[in-house]
Amino acid sequence: MKIIMLGAPGAGKGTQAKMIAEKYGIPHISTGDIFRANIKNGTQLGMEAKQYMDQGLLVPDELTVKILLDRVAREDCAGGYVLDGFPRTIPQAEVLDEALTAQNEKIDYAIDVDVPDENIVKRMSGRRACLKCGATYHLEHIPPRTEGICDSCGSGLVLRDDDRPETVLNRLKVYHDQTQPLIDYYSRKKILRTVDGTMDMQDVFHAITAILG
Ligand code: ADP
Ligand code: AMP
Repeated sequence: MKIIMLGAPGAGKGTQAKMIAEKYGIPHISTGDIFRANIKNGTQLGMEAKQYMDQGLLVPDELTVKILLDRVAREDCAGGYVLDGFPRTIPQAEVLDEALTAQNEKIDYAIDVDVPDENIVKRMSGRRACLKCGATYHLEHIPPRTEGICDSCGSGLVLRDDDRPETVLNRLKVYHDQTQPLIDYYSRKKILRTVDGTMDMQDVFHAITAILG
């Protein structure tokens, strides 16, 4: 099964994508996590991506599409995957569709996790991330067992540079301008499903599994 997670930054795509990946035994692929790992390792890609990410802008399609296509070509993706944070522009979606069509494959579902803008800034300022294993928490809603420490790997948790309120507002604008058109794009392809992302994370997950089966 091939699944795309859509939704504003902070809507809960990553939280749900991890749960989907575990339940259905498919890899969770986050382009944001790939960029952050590259930044941490000081690679050329990481240095280029950081300039855009820190301003809340999208990393250019040329860089993003290549890393995503390389990732989904790997063997562990043969049985499907859940994409989190890709595509974020119409050209990215078109390139993905072309690559899949060439292999007689297709995306099965695009799941839009719908959360109004008013809730987003609160969500993002409370998000704490583990840059080592990619786990995310929320100070109020999904706190780690020990304050400031990742439950999964024991590393320190941080407020991501791009989760500061002034950057979040930029990211929301970029989302509405460049990413939201994908909702129509997948709706026309009849694979769009919308879930109410303001519910408790378990309820959101139930709504998603009711769709995926
Ligand atoms: P995205 O991947 O869409 O940017 P995340 O999955 O990282 O979003 O979620 C953003 C923040 O909101 C995180 O701190 C996460 O723990 C929290 N969160 C996720 N889902 C919910 C939910 N249903 N209710 C409340 N907080 C949530
Ligand atoms: P995320 O972790 O999905 O919130 O992504 C963090 C940041 O990484 C975004 O704000 C972008 O700067 C960059 N990024 C992640 N995925 C993409 C993508 N598909 N296209 C362009 N930029 C991306």
